[in-house]
Amino acid sequence: MKPAVDKDKCTGCGTCMALCPKVFEFDDDGKSRVIDESGCAKGCDCQQAVDSCPTQAISLK
Ligand code: SF4
Repeated sequence: MKPAVDKDKCTGCGTCMALCPKVFEFDDDGKSRVIDESGCAKGCDCQQAVDSCPTQAISLK
């Protein structure tokens, strides 16, 4: 599963980076961006990030 962030929905709360720092990081605009699409298969529970995002900005495809 590959994660994606909808920048229009992201508020930059930082929750996803805290949960999966190898997958998400702050972009220059202060919002989340994906830095490793394959990170969900390397020990990060990306579903938890999806479920924890307060604005439902993260999707898994
Ligand atoms: S948890 Fe959601 S709203 Fe918060 S930074 Fe990540 S994508 Fe953005």
